[in-house]
Amino acid sequence: MRIGVYAGSFDPITKGHFDVIKKSLKITDKLIVAVMNNVNKKCWFSLEERKRLIEILVAEFGEKIEVKNFDGLLIDFMKENKAEIIIRGLRAVSDFEYELGYAFVNHDLSYGEVETIFVPAAREYMYLSASSVREAATVGARLDIFVDERIIDIIKRKADSLKG
Ligand code: ADP
Repeated sequence: MRIGVYAGSFDPITKGHFDVIKKSLKITDKLIVAVMNNVNKKCWFSLEERKRLIEILVAEFGEKIEVKNFDGLLIDFMKENKAEIIIRGLRAVSDFEYELGYAFVNHDLSYGEVETIFVPAAREYMYLSASSVREAATVGARLDIFVDERIIDIIKRKADSLKG
């Protein structure tokens, strides 16, 4: 049983993230999407809201995917969930340097038990980040090119509520 973990902030989940999730399903028996609770990162959406947005989209894949909260060290989370594959999405070259370092650290911390697999971003989402979605929502730009239509209204409502 190959269990993969795709971890991130997902604030909110973009079409780029969703594309990585779909590709990862082909190389794992089970995929856990781990939503990070990072106290140093100020998020638009609460942990529960970010998790809910992902659940709306992955419901179609049934039991093969689970969405979980995660706090602390990724390696500990991997162990608790008997997972051996870390999935990371790679966008432009700028992601590479950081991601490679992260992969080495996790490999070493797990005494070689855990491997990282990089999934390339689709061409059209190469420069898409959650922060650009938040910016687009703030200025009222179209969101359909960035996020799945099933969650657009929730994102618009959040942008409105933050404007006060
Ligand atoms: P963001 O940078 O959009 O805030 P996260 O911090 O939640 O995203 O990133 C989680 C993982 O998803 C990282 O491995 C990141 O490289 C990857 N990722 C983010 N956006 C994309 C995208 N558009 N295409 C492919 N991978 C992506």
